[in-house]
Amino acid sequence: MSESFLHFLWRCKRFNSSSLQTTQGLPLDILNPGEWNRHSGPDFFNARIRMDGALWAGNVELHVQASEWDAHGHSSDPAYDNVLLHVVYEEDRPVISASGKRIPCLELKGKIPPGLIHRYKQLEQQRSGIPCSKFWRDVPEEIRRGWLTQILEERLEQKSGVVMRLLDDTRQHQDEAFYRLMARNFGLQVNTEPFDALARSVPVVVPARLRSSLLQLEALFFGQAGLLDRHFEEEYPRLLQREYALLRHKFALSPMKASQWKFMRMRPSGFPTRRIARFAALIQKNPFPLSSLMAAGSLAEMEELLSVELSEYWKTHYDFGKSTAASGKRHTGHAFIHTIILNTLVPFMYGLGKRKGDAGLIGKALDLLGDMPPEQNKITRFWQEMGENPANAAHTQALIHLRNHWCEARKCLECEIGGHCLAGAATVA
Ligand code: SF4
Repeated sequence: MSESFLHFLWRCKRFNSSSLQTTQGLPLDILNPGEWNRHSGPDFFNARIRMDGALWAGNVELHVQASEWDAHGHSSDPAYDNVLLHVVYEEDRPVISASGKRIPCLELKGKIPPGLIHRYKQLEQQRSGIPCSKFWRDVPEEIRRGWLTQILEERLEQKSGVVMRLLDDTRQHQDEAFYRLMARNFGLQVNTEPFDALARSVPVVVPARLRSSLLQLEALFFGQAGLLDRHFEEEYPRLLQREYALLRHKFALSPMKASQWKFMRMRPSGFPTRRIARFAALIQKNPFPLSSLMAAGSLAEMEELLSVELSEYWKTHYDFGKSTAASGKRHTGHAFIHTIILNTLVPFMYGLGKRKGDAGLIGKALDLLGDMPPEQNKITRFWQEMGENPANAAHTQALIHLRNHWCEARKCLECEIGGHCLAGAATVA
């Protein structure tokens, strides 16, 4: 028995509640278990119960053993003085409040359907896959869909939190905030922070002023990235060095440390050098792409707006001085463009919609996810093996979030799927 399971039992009233009595024999009726308090203080607020014929409204505290009340220091804490019911698995001893009153106690031992305990143990002890692996396929489609819709909303809320912070940092400058978020996502996890630092080091108006020359844009970004601060044999990087020296002086810039960039365990096509070159090409194509992306009428139009061709040097190099015939894609691939849309444009539209109270913009972000193809990665393949057949990116985004933030954290007792699995077991002997 764990306290989290006890919480679940109380919250969802999954125990035999007919003819309930406190341990002192007072008749008890649970009208409302109350609101779960995830912060300090009693576990549930505003519960409503009828005890010995009288109606009560107030707080409820839960413990596996009643003696944990003292062990957790509640006996001397005035925040627990007005607890009207102590719900325990076992009352190993009576509990007295700080003001000297015996706190009414409900003992759940013997009132939990054995099938429910058995199913809970199955969830808890499942080690391969996810805890509900054995039951997932039996959960009705409408329950899975409904839960995944909530999970998608949670994911978008979480991702748009970064957008809110960027808007605040830039004093609501949408283009600057979007430029920084896009730069972060060009880092693709491994180089997120250096890309973030790079974008912060040169406000979007600076590259916008240089958009007539891709050479100058590359000089600006590679120079600021600290990647030009070494000796080169080839003429092209030397040219970038000379350009950067002028730009550095003109805009009073100071470069980052090259050591911040990570190249290890990465395919050449993912090297930050190639990503910086692609970022420079995208800024040249459109330094303020937010408005045109939001106005685009289709996914294909967005793909066109985000697709760029690398400069001649980067068509045949993956790093300075390192050329290869097979140097990867010259044009931006669809998979990368979709990653940028998923991680930059969608959260940006969603966050902006939330901030402005613009339901149309929020709906547009959701529609865009519905139009995008499902993602293909380790997590989506796992769900496919579980029987899910994602139709679009809205579905895969929800599945990825569920796996990473719920299943991995084993939050099954708070999950609708877990609740359904246990509900099905409530009467199983
Ligand atoms: S969190 Fe939900 S979906 Fe994930 S394993 Fe637990 S019950 Fe299943």
